[in-house]
Amino acid sequence: MASFRFEALKIAGTRPMVNVSELDRKSAIFGSNVFNDKSMRQFLTPDAYKAVKNAMDLGVKIDRKLADSVAMGMKEWALSKGVTHYTHWFQPLTGTTAEKHDAFFETSPDGADPIERLAGTQLVQQESDASSFPNGGIRNTFEARGYTAWDPTSPAFIYGTTLCIPTVFVSYTGEALDNKTPLLRALSAIDAAATEVCKYFDKNVKKVVATLGWEQEYFLIDSALAASRPDILQTGRTLLGHTAAKGQQLEDHYFGSIPSRVLNYMRDLENECMLLGIPVKTRHNEVAPNQFELAPIFEEANLAVDHNSLLMDVMQKVAERHYFKVLFHEKPFKGVNGSGKHNNWSLSTDTGVNLLSPSKTPMSNLQFLTFFINTIKAVSIYEELLRASIASASNDHRLGANEAPPAIVSIFIGQQLTKVLEELEGVSTGKLSPEEKTELKLNVVGKIPDVLLDNTDRNRTSSFAFTGNKFEFRAVGSTANCANAMTVINTIVAKQLVDFKKEVDDLIENGGLKKDEAIFNVLREYIKDTKNILFEGDGYSKEWEEEAVRRGLSNHKSTPAALKARISEKAFSVFQEMNVMDHTEVEARYEIELEEYIKKIQIEGRVLGDIVRNHVVPTAIRYQNVIVENVKGLKEIFGADYEQYAEEQLLILKKISKHINGIHAKVYEMMDARKQANSLTNVQEIADAYCDNVKPYFDQIRYHSDKLELIVDNEMWTLTKYRELLFSR
Ligand code: ADP
Ligand code: MG
Repeated sequence: MASFRFEALKIAGTRPMVNVSELDRKSAIFGSNVFNDKSMRQFLTPDAYKAVKNAMDLGVKIDRKLADSVAMGMKEWALSKGVTHYTHWFQPLTGTTAEKHDAFFETSPDGADPIERLAGTQLVQQESDASSFPNGGIRNTFEARGYTAWDPTSPAFIYGTTLCIPTVFVSYTGEALDNKTPLLRALSAIDAAATEVCKYFDKNVKKVVATLGWEQEYFLIDSALAASRPDILQTGRTLLGHTAAKGQQLEDHYFGSIPSRVLNYMRDLENECMLLGIPVKTRHNEVAPNQFELAPIFEEANLAVDHNSLLMDVMQKVAERHYFKVLFHEKPFKGVNGSGKHNNWSLSTDTGVNLLSPSKTPMSNLQFLTFFINTIKAVSIYEELLRASIASASNDHRLGANEAPPAIVSIFIGQQLTKVLEELEGVSTGKLSPEEKTELKLNVVGKIPDVLLDNTDRNRTSSFAFTGNKFEFRAVGSTANCANAMTVINTIVAKQLVDFKKEVDDLIENGGLKKDEAIFNVLREYIKDTKNILFEGDGYSKEWEEEAVRRGLSNHKSTPAALKARISEKAFSVFQEMNVMDHTEVEARYEIELEEYIKKIQIEGRVLGDIVRNHVVPTAIRYQNVIVENVKGLKEIFGADYEQYAEEQLLILKKISKHINGIHAKVYEMMDARKQANSLTNVQEIADAYCDNVKPYFDQIRYHSDKLELIVDNEMWTLTKYRELLFSR
């Protein structure tokens, strides 16, 4: 009944302001629920502390006895904060985080002496049934075991009354079943490769870490309104709904003053983040109505990925307290902006140098150029793999739509750096004359920092942009786990740096060149090779799509098409060579992602079918009956002349019937298409069928429903409307 919608609107309109307690100054509470350096020093023995530090910094395994000691200290710390349970916290390939809580509480075998306990073995490794998590065929039925194993590089934290221990999740046979395992391997690959290259410039560098600063976009709507929409509840987006007369045309939302109920939510959320050590820094309104963004200070990539996964969970929980629902979907509403999660990425040495930041001396700028150009080269070789890393059913709606990067991966570097690359392209082959060296030092490499300082170029339409001291991968979707994109970026750049090192060493050893000559020579060739990926124009334009085809760049608009790059020979070999994933793991992941795609489209198809038949059509018929009664009445009064008085009503009657018929016909056709798709056996074929034969019905069905929404009496319409979802707060 429409009363449900009006009830929801009434509830949403009269929400009380939730009280948010004022916490101490942020810097004082930051990380107080994290087993960080400070708490480790306090609760661990010096030996145990050192063991954890070595595990974190050098990857040294912690032995059994020390693990017991670490576990004990961790437990004491947790108990001192009122914690009762612990969990291995991990990120299976379901898109969310997983946890199974166990109480610290234990009794001795005879039932006496109840104690609180956390053994070293319980901290370090646990067995877990892997059969209910996506595994892409890795698991066979008689070996359904999986293991979660402690990742000491991401500190344990307390959420509520539970101690959460970040872990990896692998199969009995050691294959990755989660997002973290390949990421950790990729981070170790980039560390090794980048450290070697750094040694050309500074022998003291011992470690390089990748850094990540994500920007999380989201929509916030009242929970009663969300509950009134079966599509939002089940698919995270609206499958129907005529666009509101007012959308984002006036651009009055972006960076506008934050509505007080939302601000209150943000304050509460930020308090939670501070306790959890998530360094959130900025908050603002985004472009679409009821769309917002939150961004932290960047961190080491593994920790940043964990923090983003944790944050998404915390955001939803805090939202419950404020009677909001967070929509993370990339395109919850047709016609207004979708949500992304820009991934700002860079590399940083243990000597404190950002390798993608130009600096003062010609030598350190040559280092900058080395990493800058190698990244460009990696992206130009593996652009399809990068596109595949952000493919999902939900992100398909966003890429290439309103103010979102296209499905084409290209790099924007700005006018100034383009000029620098042009000059480097002219470097002589082989040995360089003293004059050329001086010229390069003074006028090309030496001038970079000045040049970048007034570089105000901020092309916002590029999917992969250099933004002064980092690259920003903008095509990542708002629901994504950043691990996927981060694994690919770090793997391909690692591979590229390994190749670069080989080439440079070869020129030094066999070509008789000095180190900087060899580097200039190799970089010059890379600049020539990578022109196809650099693009400074409008990435949203039709012309760019055409130009990209001419350049041989991929433009995969759907997930099944994009994912194919995941199982190319190129992909297998780069993951294998960098020890990130073996053949089985790559294939398994591919299957899991296709299956997820299929399920998402299948669910959307079913939900859409249900809503149009159970909500839209019955409502339309009810309204049609009202008009029928009216027409009958007019006929009674006016007799044969009635038609001239019922002209509009008769038209409406016909229109309603036309759209009802349209809906029914298309829903049946869609069901047939689903059946056909389901009858296929190969997962790639099923995904293609869902994409090409099922999904196109969504818009056709929606068309008829949205037309009915415009005709039917507002009082009768059961589904909460766009204007209500987007403008109530
Ligand atoms: P935008 O203009 O796209 O909104 P901002 O400048 O507001 O971008 O955001 C910058 C983001 O980049 C922040 O999340 C920040 O943490 C991150 N960032 C800054 N420097 C680095 C770096 N060296 N490595 C990774 N991320 C970084
Ligand atoms: Mg950004």
